[in-house]
Amino acid sequence: LKSTVVITGASSGVGLYGALALAKRGWHVVMGCRDLDKAQKAAETVGIPQGSYTLIHIDLGSLDSVRRFVDNFRARGLSLDALVCNAAIYMPLIKEPLRSPEGYELTVTTNHLGHFLLCNLMLEDLKKSSHPDRRLVILGTVTHNPDELGGKIPPRPDLGNFEGFEAGFQEPISMIDGKQFEPVKAYKDSKVCNVLTMRELHRRYHESTGITFTSLYPGCVAETPLFRNHYPLFQKIFPLFQKYITGGYVSQELSGERVAAVVADPEYKQSGAYWSWGNRQKKEGKSFVQKVSPQARDDEKAERMWDLSAKLVRVY
Ligand code: NDP
Repeated sequence: LKSTVVITGASSGVGLYGALALAKRGWHVVMGCRDLDKAQKAAETVGIPQGSYTLIHIDLGSLDSVRRFVDNFRARGLSLDALVCNAAIYMPLIKEPLRSPEGYELTVTTNHLGHFLLCNLMLEDLKKSSHPDRRLVILGTVTHNPDELGGKIPPRPDLGNFEGFEAGFQEPISMIDGKQFEPVKAYKDSKVCNVLTMRELHRRYHESTGITFTSLYPGCVAETPLFRNHYPLFQKIFPLFQKYITGGYVSQELSGERVAAVVADPEYKQSGAYWSWGNRQKKEGKSFVQKVSPQARDDEKAERMWDLSAKLVRVY
C-alpha cells in the first residue's frame, strides 16, 4: 500500500515540484489546491503519473474551506501519513489589506491561520495512521530571519505582543502587531508564525505521538510564480540576480526534491528541526539544522501565538 501525503498549494512552484518528487518516490499525493483545473493541468504538464495523485479543493484563505477539505479528505478513506503546509501568497504591491470571509487580513490567514487550523484538525488523522514514520512539514523562508543576510532587507518581521490578534484581527486591524498595514511585513510575519507553529507542535505533540514536525528553507526558488504580484521588471531580474550575484538560486525541480527529502528520507527524522541548504548554493551542498530567528525561537511567543491563533480559528 502506498503512503499518502497531503500538500497544500501543489498547483505551482515548490508544492507542484514537491508533489512530483514524492510521486516519483512512490507516494500517493493529495494535492490540496484552490483551482482544481489549474492543478490538473499543472500535474499533467510536469508529468505526475496518473493514478498517483488526487485533487481536493482547499482555499487556505477561508477557514470554512479548510474544514470542508478535511471532511472531503476523510470521506475518501485515505490514511494520512504526511502533511506539507506549503501554500502561500505574497502581495508586495497592494496598498490596502485584502480580507478573508471571516474579515481577517488575507496574507496571514492564507499562510498562517489556514494552515494552523489544518494542522490542528489533521493531527488527528496523522495520529490514526499506522505508518512507522509520520511527518508534518511547514515551509519556512530565510526572510523570516533578520539574523541572516537574506532576511536583513526591510521591513523586518515583528509580531509585537500580538496586539492585532488579541484585538480580533478584523477591520480596522490588519497586522499581527496591530500596527499599520505593510504587505511585505505581513508575509514575513506569517512565515515567522509558520516556524513558531512547527516548534509549538513539536513541543506539544512530538513525545506523545511520535510524529516528526519540521520546517525547511528550500533556497531561493526565484522562478516560482510566488513573485507574480511583483513588478514585471523585478520578476525578470530577480532570478538572474540570485543566479549570478548572490548564488542563492535554486531550480523548482531541486526545491521539490528538498521537500520530498524532508518528508521521506530517514536523515530528516529530527522533530523540531528547521532544515536549510544555506543561502549560497554550492555543488554537493549539504543540508543542516539551522537556528531560527530570535522571534521564531521564543517559547513564550510560540505559546501566545498558539492560544490567540486557536481563538481566531476556533479550535480548542
Ligand atoms: P507559488 O506562488 O509558486 O505557489 C504557491 C501555491 O500556493 C500555489 O499553488 C497557489 O495556488 C497556492 N495558494 C495560494 N493561495 C492559496 C489559497 N488561498 N488556497 C490554496 N492554495 C493557495 O509559490 P512558491 O512555490 O514559491 O512558494 C511555496 C512555499 O515556499 C511558500 O510557503 C513560500 O513561503 C515558500 N518559499 C518560497 C521561496 C521561493 O523563493 N520561491 C523561498 C522560501 C520559501 P494557485 O496556483 O491557485 O495560485
